[in-house]
Amino acid sequence: PVPVVAIDGPSASGKGTVAALVAEALGFAHLDSGALYRIVALSAMRKGVALEDEPAVAALAAGLPARFEGGRVLLDGDDVTDEIRSETCSVGASRVAVLPQVRDALFWRQRAYRSGAGVVAEGRDMGSVVFPDAELKIFLTASVEARAERRYKQLIGKGMAASMIDLLKDLHERDARDSQRAVAPLKQCEDAALLDTSELTVQQAVDFVVERAAG
Ligand code: C5P
Repeated sequence: PVPVVAIDGPSASGKGTVAALVAEALGFAHLDSGALYRIVALSAMRKGVALEDEPAVAALAAGLPARFEGGRVLLDGDDVTDEIRSETCSVGASRVAVLPQVRDALFWRQRAYRSGAGVVAEGRDMGSVVFPDAELKIFLTASVEARAERRYKQLIGKGMAASMIDLLKDLHERDARDSQRAVAPLKQCEDAALLDTSELTVQQAVDFVVERAAG
């Protein structure tokens, strides 16, 4: 069987960075499932489809003309790498993510990543729903303060305005929404190893996962 490393965790936990580096170290493909929800939201908004129109959004998700190429994200051939990280797309993604038909449509697309040498799959329900049979499951988290501080530095580094108070409030709200929702709530699987990166460097977090994947 093709090995799967499932990495789940909350917003801004650093799982995207860690998953990409682990995939590179192991020579595995990288599935960023959050990006799929973001692209579905963007596609719906561009086509004028209401984000709560479940059958219409699910139809878009099933036939999503999206590609991942060398770190870029393409929708209908259009580079949307930066646009899907916008606040509008973050909120849109969390809205379409509560629709069961949308999750079902993306399920098969995500399962298809299980090919080749292996896959590092990152999201909220990789270990619980999409790859319950994953060889290795990691629940990657960090304190809300550590996550807010990282995002703060990221924004300031890009020359953008940022407020710690707003970032903390935003993360608390997002955590509550992702963990309390009825559909695929975020939670640590019983068989997942807990990786709290509050006090770790990126390299230490990557090593933690790679060592377990190799062992
Ligand atoms: O991980 P990321 O922040 O890019 O995900 C965007 C949104 O998509 C999350 O807030 C969550 O609501 C949703 N999501 C999900 N299941 C996944 C990945 C993301 O519901 N596997």
